[in-house]
Amino acid sequence: MSELMKIENLHKSFGKNQVLNGIDTTIQKGEVVVVIGPSGSGKSTFLRCLNLLETPTEGAVIFEDVDLTDPKIDIFKIRENLGMVFQTFNLFPHKTVMENLCLAPVKAGLKNQKEAKENGMRLLKQVGLEDKAEAYPNSLSGGQKQRIAIARALAMEPDVMLFDEPTSALDPEMVGEVLTVMKDLAKAGMTMVIVSHEMGFAKEVGDRVLLMDEGEIVEEGSPTELFDHPKHPRTIDFLSKVL
Ligand code: ADP
Ligand code: MG
Repeated sequence: MSELMKIENLHKSFGKNQVLNGIDTTIQKGEVVVVIGPSGSGKSTFLRCLNLLETPTEGAVIFEDVDLTDPKIDIFKIRENLGMVFQTFNLFPHKTVMENLCLAPVKAGLKNQKEAKENGMRLLKQVGLEDKAEAYPNSLSGGQKQRIAIARALAMEPDVMLFDEPTSALDPEMVGEVLTVMKDLAKAGMTMVIVSHEMGFAKEVGDRVLLMDEGEIVEEGSPTELFDHPKHPRTIDFLSKVL
């Protein structure tokens, strides 16, 4: 395995509120890292620091040997390689599914319109929605919208996919279809960092699980280590509430 991201001494505060208190971890190419922890522990802030949607107050985020906190880099260009999927889908409502998929790769000069469309069709097949190319987002279910949001992120051919609670806004019957798409991605070798409350998914798909609390990684390990043999009292306490 080779290293894709290295997070060093990452701190983030909002005013006086110190949200991340020194996070150190490394993400290997092809690794699936699941981040769990109580609400307000800094999981979203951590994820958003990985692509500089939030600016760290201290520390470094090294991605493919580039320190993203270096003000001299073109973060917009680099961010194209870090796909992100949010809890709510943020699709462009006045554009068709296919237009949603083509917009960024064409604008970034990654593909021309024809290539983007061909790739868009391939991605729609991948997420099981090849019949929805001409549909508008509002005509889709939540699960379908989220699968399109994943396809849209993939359209930029990112090197890593960041997911922030991608299923927590969904009706329960739609969670499975989104997790299936994510499982397939993991199997295909995509590097993924996933904030999720889906413990079953974390166990099945995660290579490593990080337990965050109060802006720190309290414990990390394989799903078996973390779920079946937790060591830290805060991990044991958290798991007793969610499992
Ligand atoms: P989690 O995702 O684990 O629930 P968050 O990272 O969303 O936690 O939030 C951690 C803390 O950071 C919370 O106290 C939250 O209020 C604060 N926070 C997050 N984003 C902002 C922001 N943009 N401005 C001010 N405070 C924020
Ligand atoms: Mg969050």
